[in-house]
Amino acid sequence: MKPGRFAYHAPRELDEALALLKEYGDDAKVLAGGQSLMPMLNFRLARIDHLIDVNRLGGGLDEPRVEADTITIPALVRQRQVERSPELTRALPLLASALRQVAHPQIRNRGTVCGSLAHADPAAELPSVMTALDARFTVVSADGVRTLGAADFFLFHLTTALEAEELLLEVTIDRPPAGTHSAFREFATRQGDFALAGVAVTCGLDDDGVVTGCRVAAAGIAPTPRRLTAVEGLTVGNRLDDALLAGAEAAARAEIDPTSDIHASAAYRRRLTGVLVRRALADVREAAHA
Ligand SMILES: Cc1cc2nc3c(=O)[nH]c(=O)nc-3n(C[C@H](O)[C@H](O)[C@H](O)COP(=O)(O)OP(=O)(O)OC[C@H]3O[C@@H](n4cnc5c(N)ncnc54)[C@H](O)[C@@H]3O)c2cc1C
Repeated sequence: MKPGRFAYHAPRELDEALALLKEYGDDAKVLAGGQSLMPMLNFRLARIDHLIDVNRLGGGLDEPRVEADTITIPALVRQRQVERSPELTRALPLLASALRQVAHPQIRNRGTVCGSLAHADPAAELPSVMTALDARFTVVSADGVRTLGAADFFLFHLTTALEAEELLLEVTIDRPPAGTHSAFREFATRQGDFALAGVAVTCGLDDDGVVTGCRVAAAGIAPTPRRLTAVEGLTVGNRLDDALLAGAEAAARAEIDPTSDIHASAAYRRRLTGVLVRRALADVREAAHA
């Protein structure tokens, strides 16, 4: 298949890109890595009049910024770049671990972190990871800048709060404090496929192994990343022993309401999510012991 006809724009300055988005936003798409957009255009699941290729933008948009308290991933940072950075892998092991389960290396070589977030596939790993990490999304247009949390950014299946004239400029994550451990678990029928369900967990533990804070977000079971607040509430103030893990598995099953599709039934996804929660919490416990 070939895409429909469109005008191709390759701005070199952010202002130029934002002006194009302001002028053509309703009939345009931003091209980042193209790993989701190009198949959609080729299969004519999307039709546009203008393609705004942001790959030539300068201004450090392809360089992650590691600062004392925060890590920022701008729009043109490739997924593979994060996965291969020892500094980022050390600082954000949850992100690195999830990235290794996104598609295949060839796709991650081109696909951007921000592109995956802007695309907002409910089964994608990175939206749930950013939800668990409580990331902030910086969005720009010719008219200004705004910052959103994950709960306000992801609205529905393939739908975010981005307006037609806006660009996701970067995503910022606070550096997890000492004593934070994390895990990402998913199940896909083949390596590199979208997961039937996935779970991102980040927990703070004190020196006695008691959980001081916990955020859990699931992928693939709802139109947007789903915080598992009952699981979070159960863990805080407790040790991650086997009884707690079994309780967390049951709590996860009870608090979600997945739907059935051609890949899996709702009942299977419910059971799977519980198992993934238990295993992810066991990974956290093991990481803390190590
Ligand atoms: C075979 C295959 C398997 C895959 N498996 C997985 C998987 O298991 N898990 C997974 O998560 N993903 C998977 N993907 C998708 C892949 O991770 C994509 O790279 C990612 O979803 C989109 O990133 P991109 O940079 O390629 O974005 P693009 O394809 O360029 O863009 C995707 C969408 O986001 C918009 N967009 C991109 N960047 C911005 C921005 N900065 N601001 C505003 N809008 C923007 C585009 O306009 C478009 O609508 C797979 C893809 C393929 C082809």
